[in-house]
Amino acid sequence: MKYISTRGQAPALGFEDVLLTGLAADGGLYVPELLPRFTLEEIRSWRGLPYSELAFNVMFPFVEGAIPADDFRAMLKETYADFAHPAVAPLIQIGSNEWVMELFRGPTLAFKDFALQLLGRLLDYVLEKRQQHVVILGATSGDTGSAAIEGCRRCKHVDIFILHPHQRVSEVQRRQMTTVPGDNIHNLAVRGNFDDCQQMVKASFGDQSFLDGKAQLVAVNSINWARIMAQIVYYFHAALSLGGPDRSLAFSVPTGNFGDIFAGYLAREMGLPIEQLVIATNRNDILHRFMSGNRYEKHQLEHTLSPSMDIMISSNFERLLFDLYGRNGAAVADLFARFQQGPVSIDDYRWAQARKLFDSYAVDDEATCATIAEVFSEAEYLLDPHTAIGVKAAQACRRDASIPMVTLATAHPAKFPDAVEKAGVEARPALPLHLADLFEREERYQVLDNDITAVQQFIAKHWKFA
Ligand SMILES: *Cc1c(COP(=O)(O)O)cnc(C)c1O
Repeated sequence: MKYISTRGQAPALGFEDVLLTGLAADGGLYVPELLPRFTLEEIRSWRGLPYSELAFNVMFPFVEGAIPADDFRAMLKETYADFAHPAVAPLIQIGSNEWVMELFRGPTLAFKDFALQLLGRLLDYVLEKRQQHVVILGATSGDTGSAAIEGCRRCKHVDIFILHPHQRVSEVQRRQMTTVPGDNIHNLAVRGNFDDCQQMVKASFGDQSFLDGKAQLVAVNSINWARIMAQIVYYFHAALSLGGPDRSLAFSVPTGNFGDIFAGYLAREMGLPIEQLVIATNRNDILHRFMSGNRYEKHQLEHTLSPSMDIMISSNFERLLFDLYGRNGAAVADLFARFQQGPVSIDDYRWAQARKLFDSYAVDDEATCATIAEVFSEAEYLLDPHTAIGVKAAQACRRDASIPMVTLATAHPAKFPDAVEKAGVEARPALPLHLADLFEREERYQVLDNDITAVQQFIAKHWKFA
């Protein structure tokens, strides 16, 4: 499988190189040159398979040529055995033909585990073969950091440095990052905000000279193709569990960077019957505003009860735009050049196409809390605030009650106890058993000034072969 850039000017790469690259050299994102397509008959034959074997069938075309089938199969088996439920992504009914798919049974209690637990293993496999060592650098406001650290804890060929804003992540989230043991794990608490952290990461990728050419930086945010790939699988899993592919499904997806829902779009392109895909946003609603009015415009960041969706622009949306523009990289490059200057619109017929593919809905904090309270009182099921946004959007956008509506449950409610409390729900969500002693575990992290030189010097001094 070859991968090409959405801006058309960077060289095509194989899977290994795409795994080890962040942005393409032309500023674009990598996508498969050709998407695999499955027949209904093939998909039907996967009914009843364990999650890891379904994952193999869906993903192998993407890694073929880079990773032998048996090795990939073993890697997937190991990855999903670490999830605290035999179904890996169990489906729970919360209403009439309304479901949530629990994607929070992984080690760090958010859906990002599906991709990042695999990514760590993929990286170590490829790096072992190449006898190479890399440095992962990322910024987090919570979920990505813990999932990436957990995914890399066993890696021999990776040092991981995660920046978080000092005293601005929740205690559960900080402890999930800082209590993971390992010489290759480095938590940096920066005396600044999340944007400061992200700016430092961006600048460091742009100029890696602080590493003296001795190590390469690797990105673990959702611009990394391998993350998207791993998220396609659970759409097939949901469908096969609820009568697909002979019956169509609808999905509602709490969205920030458009990664998770883009995976749903790909599942449909690969042959899975999906009737409806709902983009569910919080008050940071650039996607909903674009879908409603054909205007892609950055607004001020708002802090909400669903912090993992607090974004100003959705980086993976570029991957959809590439398809809407008939895979014309030059046109996408031109669009983003204009977006640097201000709001942009696209041709009406392309926008109409986007509206055919997706519905959208934005949910504020008040409606988020009301949904948590309502679902708890009706079904005694506790939603986290991100999932509540998905459930609310599903109810608002639903077109056909005879089609199962599945909301992706992206985080465990115990990760966001404050929102649950604000919703007025009496029950305090407990951490699952494997994290029950989180507050007794020893923490390790370094507090640094909001200064890129200090951060870069720390990395240069502390990675394995420094
Ligand atoms: C990251 C995250 C999201 C948003 O996912 P995207 O792929 O960025 O759209 C939603 N909910 C939770 C809990 C998350 O951690």
